[in-house]
Amino acid sequence: MKFTAEILCVGTEILLGNIVNTNATELSRGLAEVGVGLYHHTVVGDNPQRLKEALEIAFSRNNLVITTGGLGPTYDDLTKETIAAYFGRKLVRDEESERRIRAFFDRWKRPMMENSRAMPENNLKQADMPEGCIILTNHNGTAPGCIIEGENGKVAIMLPGPPREMAPMFREQVMPWLQQRSGQVLRSHNVHFFGIGESALEEQLREKMETMENPTLAPYAKDGEVMLRVTAAAPTPEECEDMLAPVVNRLLEHFPGLIYGVDVGDLQTAAIKALQEKGLTAATAESCTGGLIGKRITEVPGSSEVYGFGVVTYANEAKMKLLGVKEETLKQFGAVSEQTAAEMAAGARALSGADIAISVTGIAGPGGGSTEKPVGLVYIGVDSPWHSEVKKLNLNRGYAQQREHIRWVAASHALDLLRRTAQMR
Ligand code: ATP
Repeated sequence: MKFTAEILCVGTEILLGNIVNTNATELSRGLAEVGVGLYHHTVVGDNPQRLKEALEIAFSRNNLVITTGGLGPTYDDLTKETIAAYFGRKLVRDEESERRIRAFFDRWKRPMMENSRAMPENNLKQADMPEGCIILTNHNGTAPGCIIEGENGKVAIMLPGPPREMAPMFREQVMPWLQQRSGQVLRSHNVHFFGIGESALEEQLREKMETMENPTLAPYAKDGEVMLRVTAAAPTPEECEDMLAPVVNRLLEHFPGLIYGVDVGDLQTAAIKALQEKGLTAATAESCTGGLIGKRITEVPGSSEVYGFGVVTYANEAKMKLLGVKEETLKQFGAVSEQTAAEMAAGARALSGADIAISVTGIAGPGGGSTEKPVGLVYIGVDSPWHSEVKKLNLNRGYAQQREHIRWVAASHALDLLRRTAQMR
């Protein structure tokens, strides 16, 4: 059965902004994993009339509605009643659920405090389930969930509100059910691009790759990078992989210089991997990034194998004392210059004995820029026996709070240059 789904979260506290709708995020991720198309998220308060309307709208456009919340014992917990009425089903007491609810309360009763947690009788309302439904056992609370399959081909799945009850019930009982019913799984690969913007990439994809429904291509841009998620749906994971491989290979063929990895996570991991593969070591000399490159490299487990030396030389004096940058260079060309970046990289390599050294010097702003050297001007240097170069970048995006953006993207360029240099060996 092909499902198109809508998530319907019930709870006035979501509408009031008192809680974040993490249930919707959790359910969305899970639905993607089992290959169910999700088209709408809806939130409605604890109001039977509006819940009924929301349900009717949801079923007018989708054949699967997953609700969370409103299954509890109190008067405002109305999800089950409303959905049972929609399907024309009565609520009937489920004995197994009743037994579990009683047992749940008994576990909490302490001998010393007899009756301190005596079960309020209204809790048994939670054991009243729509006739003919599949009951979802709650291993972490009292309210069971359920699946109703209507004669009209519509399916409602009701889950409790508390995330620690909802999430395991969904993962352990609903996802396998959906997978079996929908007859397909989804698998994705993430192709990581650096050095191309999202819109430029989309344009080139349109030119180079034919439009595809399965696998699909979805770009996500963040911090100067683009991740392209390639997703296939098929009856088995193996068939998905067979469909994904040619598409990923075509991307690698069409964008050789721009892809830094597939399923690699981030630029620093890709750089470390390249160094490890070639048996090389690296050092860093940072000015405007203030240690950010070193921080990102050392986030990667195992980075100590390839990275042991990084200096932050923020002041001219530090650049001279630690890296041997010449005073004349600084005077003649300035700290933010091609020449200084080159001398910083060469100095870091000489001092560390590493195979490759990278350097960064630039103007992160907001102050310190001039017409000649504006905010966002950054030089990235690399020094190695087989390749040395300095790249000039303009990272100014014209908005006010861009200091962090400039520093982050400068570090990203340095990490990418490090990876490329390692791969040249
Ligand atoms: P209970 O038995 O606790 O009444 P319930 O199924 O009736 O469970 P609600 O009363 O709607 O669920 O919600 C219980 C709690 O679960 C909320 O107070 C909130 O902390 C959490 N919760 C509910 N819905 C969501 C949601 N969409 N995202 C995150 N947390 C939620």
